[in-house]
Amino acid sequence: MDLQVLNTTSPVGIEEDPLDLMEEIDQLKKERDASILAHFYVDGDLQDIADFTGDSLKLARDTTQVKTSTIVFCGVHFMGESAKILSPEKTILMPDLQAGCSLADSCPADRLAAYQAELRAKGHDFQTVAYINTTAAVKSLCDWIVTSGNAREIIDRVPADKEILFVPDQHLGRYLSSVTGRPMILWPGSCMVHEVFSIQDLLRAKRNNPGSLVMAHPECPANILELADIIGGTEKMRKYVASVTDPKTFLVATEANMIHPLKKLAPQHEYIPVPGIMTSTGETCACNRCPHMARNTLQKVRDCLKHGSPEIVWQPYFTAAQEVLRRSLLQ
Ligand code: SF4
Repeated sequence: MDLQVLNTTSPVGIEEDPLDLMEEIDQLKKERDASILAHFYVDGDLQDIADFTGDSLKLARDTTQVKTSTIVFCGVHFMGESAKILSPEKTILMPDLQAGCSLADSCPADRLAAYQAELRAKGHDFQTVAYINTTAAVKSLCDWIVTSGNAREIIDRVPADKEILFVPDQHLGRYLSSVTGRPMILWPGSCMVHEVFSIQDLLRAKRNNPGSLVMAHPECPANILELADIIGGTEKMRKYVASVTDPKTFLVATEANMIHPLKKLAPQHEYIPVPGIMTSTGETCACNRCPHMARNTLQKVRDCLKHGSPEIVWQPYFTAAQEVLRRSLLQ
């Protein structure tokens, strides 16, 4: 029987050549007047074809600098929302609208509104500080938005006579409270990736790699942060490794795709991702990969450029969120 090559698009089950996809994406970008923004937690191939890469803070700021009329945001849903809110005149496409975030999901807007009302009824006089990993509906209920890159500076802007309600990441909130000395009421949320790093594997890796340094994201629980030599968001990690000239071994406790930009920036070092642990069985797993970020693929970038969808569409509550985001990230 003759075999015919019928696929010009992406039939289910057939792998497309990444180089062909990259070429197609390049062409479609020109046709659609589009730029690609990619978070450090998406696959390295996507970071390599992006016009801008970075953490949430940098990418949010980059959206306002992009010259094209369309942005393809390789990240998760709340990041696409922030891009639309900061650049309402632009078309914001996402490779997969289902790319969510366990941390954002842990703080639904209706539950936050009810909790704020309860605290006020009890006489608390507070401002709400939200980590950027929240939905736009939650942002619209908050006074400030922080990222791991600007949190200390923003917390210093909260008047000293106000209490702070910090949502949704309890680990980041606890860490920020310890470094700023500001007591905080913490929302009990966490990230499914940073929550499950294996302390045993980290200790073993330290033992097997004498002289290695542990870098941990502040979304990690306190028992991981206690072992860290460097605590910081992804931009701080990049700056740190670039500042060390002698080759070192770094044990990295954050989403494993972060190794890609670290290697590119400072290839003299060795980077070992700290493994996750399955809470159900206690076995080491590949939980240090974010399943939401992994929804971004070259095929989906090509498809969203081709079809002009899915798109983040302006919602009524974006207006209130816009004021908070601009005040926090751009001023
Ligand atoms: S790594 Fe965690 S915080 Fe980041 S998008 Fe994934 S689930 Fe959300």
